[in-house]
Amino acid sequence: MTDIASLVKEFREYVRKMKHYEEAVGVLYWDLRTGAPKKGAAGRAEVIGELSGEMFRMAVSDRMGDYLDRLSEPHTFAGLGRIDRKIVEECRREYERNRKIPAGKYQEYIVLTSQAETVWEEAREAADFPRFRPYLEKIVETNLEFIGLWGFEGHKYNTLLDMYEPDMTVARLDQVFGELKDKLVPLAAEIREAEPPATGFLHMNYPKEKQKEFSLYILNQMGYDFAAGRLDETVHPFATGLNPGDVRITTRYLPNDVGSALFGTIHEGGHALYEQNISPELAGTPLCTGTSMGIHESQSRFWENMIGRSREFWHCYYGELQRIFPAELGGVPPEAFYRGINRVEPSLIRIEADELTYNLHIMIRYELEKELFAGTLKVKDLPGAWNDKYREYLGVEPENDAEGVLQDVHWAGGSFGYFPSYALGNMYSAQFWNSIRQAMPDFSERVARGDLLPIRDWLSGQIYRYGKLLTPSEIVRKVTGEDLTPSYLVDYLERKYKDIYRLS
Ligand code: ZN
Repeated sequence: MTDIASLVKEFREYVRKMKHYEEAVGVLYWDLRTGAPKKGAAGRAEVIGELSGEMFRMAVSDRMGDYLDRLSEPHTFAGLGRIDRKIVEECRREYERNRKIPAGKYQEYIVLTSQAETVWEEAREAADFPRFRPYLEKIVETNLEFIGLWGFEGHKYNTLLDMYEPDMTVARLDQVFGELKDKLVPLAAEIREAEPPATGFLHMNYPKEKQKEFSLYILNQMGYDFAAGRLDETVHPFATGLNPGDVRITTRYLPNDVGSALFGTIHEGGHALYEQNISPELAGTPLCTGTSMGIHESQSRFWENMIGRSREFWHCYYGELQRIFPAELGGVPPEAFYRGINRVEPSLIRIEADELTYNLHIMIRYELEKELFAGTLKVKDLPGAWNDKYREYLGVEPENDAEGVLQDVHWAGGSFGYFPSYALGNMYSAQFWNSIRQAMPDFSERVARGDLLPIRDWLSGQIYRYGKLLTPSEIVRKVTGEDLTPSYLVDYLERKYKDIYRLS
């Protein structure tokens, strides 16, 4: 064996070991969320903390630095295969980022955010922003310090964006969000004036067991592989990809809201299809995951909205839903059901938002985060700025900070730069939707007859199998032939909602 080959083999074993720790943490975390005994939680958190610490140490170790230096040597690097080159780049990114933060400082920050989450919970309960404010100030301040150490180009917020959506910048987001806002704010206002579809039938008594039966049925139809996954229940639904052979999802059944578990399950199912179909070549490497938060979210939203909330989908599956819920839906015509599940309602709470106004909730958060890191907005002025934007974009105003600035946990956890991924996911999904309909001219007919597997397979071949081997912008360009463009989402939403709300 040549020197390079044995070096690569050793490096691969090293990263595989890190991936094994990650998988162990994933299983422990899943177990904690899905029914581990309460009294075990504290001890379990310690185990998770210790394994995570070990992963972190391996990622920033001198040994890692040595591997990266040797493998990056031009002659060696040129001889590496495509996957190994990408693994080196990926590990380098993590290594550089994490080595720049002094260990003590990082530890302090972890303690700060975990305290902040507890205080945020109390503050939200009491609708008391001033209680949370000093923690948030400290979190923003620490992030600014980190940005100083990491460095930034253009706007300080770019460095935070890059953690969730590589290559995304404020300049680009201002442009795409600006276009989106110009179209969606008036559309939402027009809809507010129109007669809303009835939704009472979605809130009858829907027994949990029957909801579960339908959720399992739909996941099977989507091509979710139950031999490589399972469905459980949690308060906050999530998907976790341990490896492509073990991708688990959770959902929550509300007895008086049939849409909650139904669309939540399809959403997490979309995330899971991505993880189940990553190429086996990437297993055991840091590339075996979605390429970005935004692309991941595009898949959950593609399945949830573009497929799961389409007229064609319910043309196929409504009969089965009526069969399971004859008393609740037997007398509701398919068109009424379709309009009901697509009701648009400008509201205060992001997680309850429909697919149109959701984007506006995100833009508000993006604009506030950007200003916080530009230094043009102070934490103390956040609640007022928040309320002003809700009035302007959505025509609603929070009565207190619990239903305003305190509603999301993200800032307490220090996740600045994360929110834009949700709206990016919506834009990517509409752009992919346009491409798949060109590649598959009978796309609508397929959905209408429940022939969903070719759709899953197309997405696998175009997106899923690459994992992190391609960047988000490379994926978008490869699949759609152009860069991210908000006009596909605008067209999709305008066409869909003008039809549903019978606007001219
Ligand atoms: Zn999601």
